[in-house]
Amino acid sequence: MTDTARPPTPASDDPGDVAPGRYDRQVRVGGLGRDGQARLGAATVVVVGVGATGGAAADLLVRAGVGRVVLVDRDVPELGNLHRQVLFDEDDVRAGLPKAEAARRRLARVNSSVAVEARVKDLDASNALALLGGADLVVDGTDGFQTRHVVNDACALLGVPWIYTGVVGTAVHGFPIVWGETPCFRCYLPELPPPGAVPTCDVAGVLGPTVAVAAGFAAAEALKLLAGRREQVARGLLVVDVWTREARLLRLERDPACPACARAPDLLERAPPPAARLCGRDAVTLPPPGGRVDLPALAARLAGLGALERSNAFLLRVAPHDAPGLRLTVFADGRAIVDGTDDPARGRALFARLVGA
Ligand SMILES: [Zn+2]
Repeated sequence: MTDTARPPTPASDDPGDVAPGRYDRQVRVGGLGRDGQARLGAATVVVVGVGATGGAAADLLVRAGVGRVVLVDRDVPELGNLHRQVLFDEDDVRAGLPKAEAARRRLARVNSSVAVEARVKDLDASNALALLGGADLVVDGTDGFQTRHVVNDACALLGVPWIYTGVVGTAVHGFPIVWGETPCFRCYLPELPPPGAVPTCDVAGVLGPTVAVAAGFAAAEALKLLAGRREQVARGLLVVDVWTREARLLRLERDPACPACARAPDLLERAPPPAARLCGRDAVTLPPPGGRVDLPALAARLAGLGALERSNAFLLRVAPHDAPGLRLTVFADGRAIVDGTDDPARGRALFARLVGA
C-alpha cells in the first residue's frame, strides 16, 4: 500500500482530540495546532472565583479541552448576578447551590472529557498553596485586590503563571504573569488600595459585555500559555473600555524590590489574617485590608444601595437591600464587622462587593 492509498488517520487517534472532529476548528488556528491541543488536554487550570469573568473563562477553557479545570469559589448565585454570570440561571438561584458546584455541574455537561472539580472555599493565605498546588496555570476571577495579592504570592512560591483580570463598569484590565519573564501583580500594585478607594461592581455597576471581553482575553492568554506558545503571550497591561471603544496596551515595569518576583519565602505569612467568627454573636470580623477608609466618601457611595444606618467619623453601618439580614459596619481603620452570619466567607464576600478589597 502506498502512502497516497492509505486511509486518512481518524481524528480520534490524536491524543489531543478525544472525539472525532471536536476540536477541528480550534486546532486550525495557526498558533495552536494538534500538538498544542494535546498539551491542553494534559493541563490543569485552577480558576479562582467562578462568578462573572472566572465563570465565562472556565466555560471557554472547558470547551477548548483543557484536561482538568478546578473551580474555587466561596459564594452562591444571586438574581443580581445573572446579567453577567453566564454559567448560572434562575434554577441555580432557587437551588442555592454554591457557585463552584453549580458551575461544575454545568461544565461537566459541556465537555465530559474534561475533569471538572469544585472547591467550595474562600481562598486566603492559609489555604492558597493547597488550592493552587498542582496547577499549570491559575486564572483570576476574584473580586478583590487582597485576594489577588494572595493568588500572586502563592503562584510566585509555586512558580505557576497566572492571568489577572479586573472588571468594573465598562472597563477591563488584565495581564498575564509569567515568573521570570513579566512583571507581577505586586510590581503593578505594590500596596493594597485603602478600603473603599476603588469602585466595585456593586457600587459602580458592571456590564455583561465587559465580562465577556475580560473572559475572552483571559482564556486566550491561558490557551497560549498552556499550549506552550509563550512567545505569543501578551506583554503589558491591556485596558479596554467596551463603551467608549478605547483599547490600549500599557507598558508595565518590573519592581526590582518586589518580594514576589524575588520569591521571598515568607510571602504568605505577610498577608492579613483571614476573617473570623465573633464569639457569642452571629457575626464575623474582617481584618483591615490596609490603609484608612475615607468614610464620608464611602458613605456617599453606599447610600443608594441600602439603608445607611449610621455614619460618623469612626464608622459607618449599612444594611444592603439585596442582602436581607446582613449588616455591614466599616471602621475608619478598614476593619469591618458583618452581622447576620457566622460564615467568614459570606462576610468577606459582602465586604468585597460593597467596599472592595
Ligand atoms: Zn513582582
